[in-house]
Order: sequence, then structure tokens, then C-alpha cells
Amino acid sequence: MIPKVPSYWLTNAHVPICSLAPNSFSSQTPEELCLVNIKIEQGTIGQILPNSVSLDDDIAINLQKSIVLPCFIDVHTHLDKGHIWQRSPNCDGTFATALATAIDDGQKYWQPEDLYPRMEFGLKCSYAHGTKAIRTHLDCFDRQADISLEVWQTLRSQWINKITLQAVSLVSLDYYQTDAGVALADKIADIGGILGGVAYMNPELDAQLDTVFKLATARNLELDFHADENGDPNSICLQKIAETAIRHQFTGKITCGHCCSLAVQSAEVVKQTIDLVRQAKIAIVSLPMCNLYLQDRQANTTPYWRGVTKVKELKQHNIPVAFASDNCRDPFYGFGDHDVLEVFTQAVRIAHLDTPYSNWINSVTQTPADLMGLSTAGRIAVGLPADLIIFKARYFSELLSRPQSDRLVLRGGKEIDTTLPDYSELDNLMIK
Ligand SMILES: [Zn+2]
Repeated sequence: MIPKVPSYWLTNAHVPICSLAPNSFSSQTPEELCLVNIKIEQGTIGQILPNSVSLDDDIAINLQKSIVLPCFIDVHTHLDKGHIWQRSPNCDGTFATALATAIDDGQKYWQPEDLYPRMEFGLKCSYAHGTKAIRTHLDCFDRQADISLEVWQTLRSQWINKITLQAVSLVSLDYYQTDAGVALADKIADIGGILGGVAYMNPELDAQLDTVFKLATARNLELDFHADENGDPNSICLQKIAETAIRHQFTGKITCGHCCSLAVQSAEVVKQTIDLVRQAKIAIVSLPMCNLYLQDRQANTTPYWRGVTKVKELKQHNIPVAFASDNCRDPFYGFGDHDVLEVFTQAVRIAHLDTPYSNWINSVTQTPADLMGLSTAGRIAVGLPADLIIFKARYFSELLSRPQSDRLVLRGGKEIDTTLPDYSELDNLMIK
């Protein structure tokens, strides 16, 4: 469908107004989509014009209102855990079993020959679905840090022209109070990673956070925490992280993932936390599929809460909110295919983001791109690479009602092969 020529037009493209440069176009539908013509020139976006403008004689592909989005950004994943379900399922579906099962799997199998093909499988899926940047948390206790970070570095260089990869260290925060934790911070600085960890409520939390912020400040590192991934109203790690950031006058970027318990806290605590989060300039990442799966899971009981944090209230207070994949076919989430469209679809349904859609699509494009420091990704603008996804859907209702397996993905203006990797690629790893 896409011509193999250096210069062509995509006409009558339905683009969310929020994906374009501010104030450059006005929306034409209640969903804030506008019809534009996009010129692709030598792999970049050469012009964007209203569809009413007549074009020169160049080749033009009439998209007939197909939605066009910038390529997706997946800002919170766990590539190291991915696709182990077959050998390490989570038999009761709880968070506690997920943690124990993943640790056991790691101790048994996570050598380069196991990690590399599973992580690359995740990248192949992501790329085919239209993702161009991924941040992955990597379990980094003791010797695992060297093993996993080396595999990640190899993949980062091999995939550099297809997917921008970032890594975050994942340990419990007490680890940073040990010599091994300090060495890990050094290593993260060496490889250009992001310092991270899981915050748990415990009497030492303030001291642990002080240590982490000091380590990050001394090494000029950004921070990315797992916080409050539970339904306990007394879990206020997000608030503690914000207080620590303010106390340290930390100027680097801070991202906090999950923050589920915020949704079950009193209005007073929520207000206090949101005020602190805004003051500390923390961005929030919600993981709707994993949170729906793990939260409120009890044997023989039907769940009733959705597990997601207060995304609307956070956004109303100008706090950046992104959605991401999180785990994929592992004990923390038994499903998934690294498809950010699926993440967005589920987020819309779970958190009621359709009333109105407003600029929520930015939560999987521009907002996570900004969190990752990728100022040219996640938007559609003149001069940027023509990294676009074209869907056979004209409105959000059509976009989010089908899996869109027939989407076209352009990278540098050229259509890529969107064939997904075959599950049998992993067979040898699963026979244990
Ligand atoms: Zn996570």
C-alpha cells in the first residue's frame, strides 16, 4: 500500500489534534481528530497541511480518514521476566505468588542464553505492533545485575535503529544501603541507566529513600520507582517518595509506577499526596492490565476494584500520566503481547477515558516520550522521522473495538514487516 518512493503524501489522515504541534490545527470531530495531509520526504515528515489544500502532482495515498498515530512509547516493561508463563505459571494469581514464582524462575534459569531470546522476543512483538522506545526494569540483585544488564546492553546496540532501549535497576530499596547497592548505582551510571527499585512500607523507608536520592544525586541519575502496588489504604510510599524528593531538592526526573493504593485512600490523603507529587514534579505510570490482573485477587472471590490509580485526578492537577505494558506472560500478568494499543484500549475501558477522549492518547505517545527524554518521539510534526502507525479505523470507537492486527507501521516513511514472532521460538526454553 505504501509506495517505495522517497517522497509521497498521505492524504485524509485522521490525526488526534494533541499529536500535532500545539495550536497548529483545529479539531473537526467531537473526539478531537482532524483531517490532514502529511507529506513524507526522505523518511521524515516534510509538510502537514489541512486536507482542504490541493496538492502538487506527487504520489498521494488517500487514507480515507484512517487514524494515524505516532509510534508508541512503552515506558514501563519487564523484558527479563517476559514469556516464562509456560514453565512458571502463577497458580493462584496473587501478587505474593507472582513475586515468589518469578524469583524462583530467575534463580533457576536467568542466564544469557535464556534471557536474550526471551527479551528479544518481546522486542520483536513491540516493534511489529509499532513501538519505537521501551524502558525496561531489570531485576538487579547481586550477580543477576551483571548478567541481565549485559544482555540488555547487547540488545540495546543490536536494536538501536529500531527501538530506543532504557534500563532501570529493580531491587528493594534496602539493597541500596549495602555495598552491593552502591556498586549497582555505579554500574547504572556507567551504562547510562536509570536508578530504580520497589518501595515497601517499612520503618526504614525514609532512610532508604534518603540513600537512594543521595546515590542518584551524586551520579546525576534519574529515578523510577515501583510504589504502592497494592490495595492497602495505609500504603503511602508515593507520598514518602515525593516528600524525600522535595527535601533533597532533587532536580532529575522522577517516575513512579503503579500507585494503586492511592485509589483506595481517603479524599484527604489523596489531596495531600497529589499536592506533594505535583510539587516534587513526579510523573505517574499506570499499568492497567497488570493492575487489573493482580489487584483484588483472592481465592473463590469475585474482584470488584479495578486496580488502577487515580489517573484522572492526577492529570487534572497537571501531573504527567502515562500507561504502559508492565509484565507480559509471566507470573505477574499471564497475558499480553507488548501491544501498546491494547494497553491504551484497556486503559480507556478500565479508567473510563472515553468521556471525553480529550488528549488521553498522549499517555502512550508524547507523555512517555517526554518521560524518557525523547523530545522528537511520540508526536507528529514537520522535521521528525516519519514513524507512524496507520489503522483501518476512522474514529476512536472503531480503533478500540478491534485488535487492529492489520495496522501499517511506517518507520522512516517505509512500511515494515509486522509479522509477529512465532511462539515456537521459545519452545526450547520452556521445556525444563
Ligand atoms: Zn513493573
